[in-house]
Amino acid sequence: MKEALMQIKEKGVAEIRSAQSLKDLEAIKVKYLGKKGELTQILKGMGKLTAEERPVIGLVANEVRALLEETIAKEVSILEEKAMLEKLEQEKIDVSMPGKMPRKGGLHPLTKVLHELEDIFIGMGFSIAEGPEVEYDYYNFEALNLPKDHPARDTQDTFYISDNIVLRTQTSPMQIRTMEKQRPPIRVIAPGKVFRSDSVDATHSPVFHQIEGLVVDKGITMGDLKGTLELVVKKLYGEDAKIRFRPHHFPFTEPSAEVDVSCFVCKGEGCRVCKGEGWIEILGAGMVHPQVLRNCNIDPEVYSGFAFGIGLERLVMRSYDIDDLRLFFENDVRFLKQF
Ligand SMILES: [Zn+2]
Repeated sequence: MKEALMQIKEKGVAEIRSAQSLKDLEAIKVKYLGKKGELTQILKGMGKLTAEERPVIGLVANEVRALLEETIAKEVSILEEKAMLEKLEQEKIDVSMPGKMPRKGGLHPLTKVLHELEDIFIGMGFSIAEGPEVEYDYYNFEALNLPKDHPARDTQDTFYISDNIVLRTQTSPMQIRTMEKQRPPIRVIAPGKVFRSDSVDATHSPVFHQIEGLVVDKGITMGDLKGTLELVVKKLYGEDAKIRFRPHHFPFTEPSAEVDVSCFVCKGEGCRVCKGEGWIEILGAGMVHPQVLRNCNIDPEVYSGFAFGIGLERLVMRSYDIDDLRLFFENDVRFLKQF
């Protein structure tokens, strides 16, 4: 019986040491130490032993059991540590792997051209003014010589908040706000959003952008207006760009003009962009109406000035040959990333 125990000891230890997994160890444990295990079977047969043999064999049997249990425990901890190391190895972060590049954003084409224009005007000594988008009727219409019955005040064209408050239909109220706060000489541009009660189509949007310009000083003439706009156009479209004034009517300037630039695609010969005209309309301008100056307590006998309003969307559409205004506001990255 002692020999059988020695065999179990040798075989058991060898099997435990060569176990590949915790599952293997569990099976070995059952095989030797389980209820029907080899060691257990031997211990069950101890009743047949003599009184002298029993304690000797019992001692050996307990030693073998203890050794097997200890060896299994040791092997379990070795395998567990190995499994942990393998897991760590698998989950290791490789800092040298190339990362996911975040997509780089860019400026909206409207913003880009606006910045370009702002730089040009700042270079000529203008400052930038900002005003409210929700505006009093007085600033948006009345002080600009648009009396109560003027057709531009129709609810078809204007978003009314109340009888007295509107979403500004133009950036021109900034002329009044600037002249109320500041005495001449005045040189400002006022870029911003304006609102009209228009349905959305390829050339109309209920919201768009204007850039208002205002110069008031002693001895300002139409020549100054023309010179200023010529310089701006040459900086935008190159040295050979020309401008043309066509008579027009605005209530807040007198005389008034619509201003065209020679087509920067065909240089005046006529093409798709200029619709065969050779000229492209870019802004409205004129000499500040004496009544507008008087409304702001500026004496038109002493001071004079000019004003202009540029439609930003129209300018950018013409510059980049974009044929649909809606593209600016739909936030389609495929469109926007072209700029
Ligand atoms: Zn052209």
